[in-house]
Amino acid sequence: MTGDTLPDWRDSLPWPAADTHKHARGRLGVVSGKATQTGAARLAARGGLRIGAGLVRILCPPDAAAVVAPTIEAIMLTPFGSDEALAEAAAEMDAVVIGPAAGVNEVTQANIRALAGTGAVLVVDADGLTAFEGWPADLFELLDRDDVLTPHEGEFKRLFPGLLDQGREAAAAEAARRADAVMVLKGPATVIAAPDGRLAINDNGTPWLATAGSGDVLAGMIGGLVAQRMDSFDAARAAVWMHAEAARGFGPGLIAEDLPERLPAVLAALF
Ligand code: AMP
Ligand code: MG
Repeated sequence: MTGDTLPDWRDSLPWPAADTHKHARGRLGVVSGKATQTGAARLAARGGLRIGAGLVRILCPPDAAAVVAPTIEAIMLTPFGSDEALAEAAAEMDAVVIGPAAGVNEVTQANIRALAGTGAVLVVDADGLTAFEGWPADLFELLDRDDVLTPHEGEFKRLFPGLLDQGREAAAAEAARRADAVMVLKGPATVIAAPDGRLAINDNGTPWLATAGSGDVLAGMIGGLVAQRMDSFDAARAAVWMHAEAARGFGPGLIAEDLPERLPAVLAALF
């Protein structure tokens, strides 16, 4: 085990009480893109479910429901036709992931506005970040301190032009301060920074993780842990570490779908 290991987050991993039920084990919502772009949300949802959220619900535009429905099995589905309906559904969730294949547009911006203030912890990834290129402050003012942003370097540069010149660690720390939220700057060594100054680096990944959908799974995993009320900085560190650990032993041929399926073994080794 390398990287951010011998984890002090290990003791904070959620463990269900004997008399728990699925609603008490963390309810995660994942916002899906349109009908032709539902795979990313489904990957995130699988990540959230496999990391232990008791209930995962894909929140999708009505036209996507017929595509998502036959593929979800353990994952529930709520079509939403308006931002009000999205907010209503999110209010029943402990955390919501938004951004994977959401679309870089005003609809995604409006969706994030609708989610802010619902009480659900937000994990904003991918298009959810890029939709605010040029006006990142509009995104940051919507966020709470326990919300999590998960940019890869390209997405990070769009939100924070020039900041990476300071180096990845200083940049992530400053970005977390500006956003007043937890920042996960992904890459070969992922930097996790909290607005209170906590910082961790995780480098147990493999380049085989650089595959389509990999980051979507990670966003869902973080969402699954924060839905279980794990501290957002610890949840981000834990998910990043386990995401990389799930890829261990794989080489050519690793696809994003493999990662959630490996999580039970990764978790079993931790408990
Ligand atoms: P995304 O670009 O959003 O699909 O996210 C890619 C995921 O794979 C992130 O968790 C990255 O940290 C990880 N990743 C990408 N490239 C590498 C690499 N060269 N080495 C290790 N992890 C990587
Ligand atoms: Mg991504």
